[in-house]
Amino acid sequence: MRRAVIVGAGVAGLATALRLGRDGWETVVVERAPRRRTGGYVVNLIGPGYDAAERLGLLPALEARNLGLFTTVLVRADGRVKLTVPAEVAAAALGDRAVSVFRGDLESVLFDAVDTDIRFGTTVAALSEGPDAVDVVLSDGTTVTADLLVGADGVHSATRSAVFGDGSRHDLPYVVAAFNIPGGDKDRTATTFIGPGRTAALIDLGQDRSSAFFAYRCQNAETALRDGPVAALEEAFGDLGGGVPDALRHLARDPASAYFDAVSQVVMPQWSTGRTVLVGDAAWCVTVFAGHGATLALAGADQLGDALKDALKDAPKGALNDRLKDGLTDTLTDALNEDSNPLKRWEAGLRPAVMKRQAQARRGMRQYAPPTRFHVWLGDLAIRALAKKARS
Ligand SMILES: Cc1cc2nc3c(=O)[nH]c(=O)nc-3n(C[C@H](O)[C@H](O)[C@H](O)COP(=O)(O)OP(=O)(O)OC[C@H]3O[C@@H](n4cnc5c(N)ncnc54)[C@H](O)[C@@H]3O)c2cc1C
Repeated sequence: MRRAVIVGAGVAGLATALRLGRDGWETVVVERAPRRRTGGYVVNLIGPGYDAAERLGLLPALEARNLGLFTTVLVRADGRVKLTVPAEVAAAALGDRAVSVFRGDLESVLFDAVDTDIRFGTTVAALSEGPDAVDVVLSDGTTVTADLLVGADGVHSATRSAVFGDGSRHDLPYVVAAFNIPGGDKDRTATTFIGPGRTAALIDLGQDRSSAFFAYRCQNAETALRDGPVAALEEAFGDLGGGVPDALRHLARDPASAYFDAVSQVVMPQWSTGRTVLVGDAAWCVTVFAGHGATLALAGADQLGDALKDALKDAPKGALNDRLKDGLTDTLTDALNEDSNPLKRWEAGLRPAVMKRQAQARRGMRQYAPPTRFHVWLGDLAIRALAKKARS
């Protein structure tokens, strides 16, 4: 049986464990957090992410948690309505094969589907790669010998730093916060303010649940992160009316519940070396401004499974140690050393989609944080045209 150590129990890590497990691998998932995360923000799974969810058998459970689409109400700074965009506009943009779920629900669906040895509250303490295996020393004192190490530990990946060095994370001058707030009636609207350099959106999901999203341009993101979400959002959005003051008051009661981070892209010349491969935000974070990060994490994990399955299809059966003792070389070791290395083939197939989304992030920045009032006005015009088309 092949064994993989997977660092990180986010979408990328759990999806990789699920896919490799289906192909007969034994997986050990190492997660720094003491327990599984819940909640998070709303993610749309479309295109290759939806296809991968279907192949992995996740759709029924995801559909049961589908939050559906919302009417968008664009408002002025004081909360007065500027224009209303029917949910059909989002429906047309996303298409039929789409599902909107909390990131926590996506992770929970993956968690329920996967059969793995998951070690919460654990990190990787040391690594050493030999010719036939990688030894991974964990912070719980155990050492796991594996065929493959998968770094799925997100945009701030320690696996990436340890194996590839630093320098591939590019911090952008933006900060994003997202948190859930109780309450909300049944009108299912995303009330959205877009002004120069910032967006605030309060999404009423019905069923007594709402979700808040804030993104803003910030020259000194490090200071904002040090100040924490309450002070930083109060400074950036404290002048707004509508539901924003209530949302900020709620955040002040439970700041730890917020997702709050600077926006960074990860651009790497290669996603694997030897027996280590990075998947998801650790390898290619496209940022919230592009969306599609969860989609690429799911599709990337599934396609990695395809590449490894293909490379191992003719491998002789039997325990690896017995085969090595018999003087046979290991099929995976051979494959990793060949021109047709499955990790390189996987990367070549996925990279164009990642590059497309990273380029899209630059357009997304202008959408979420328009540089000037003129850009806000231009954005309003475009949204107005879409709304008009949907009504006609
Ligand atoms: C506000 C917002 C909205 C978004 N909307 C969308 C959307 O609509 N559609 C979409 O497709 N994507 C969206 N995304 C992007 C998407 O959420 C991410 O790209 C995706 O969740 C990345 O998953 P990941 O598993 O690669 O990384 P992460 O989710 O960051 O998971 C990494 C995991 O590794 C763990 N970890 C970290 N360091 C270590 C360590 N040293 N040792 C062990 N464990 C460690 C972490 O605790 C975490 O569990 C959005 C992102 C944001 C912020």
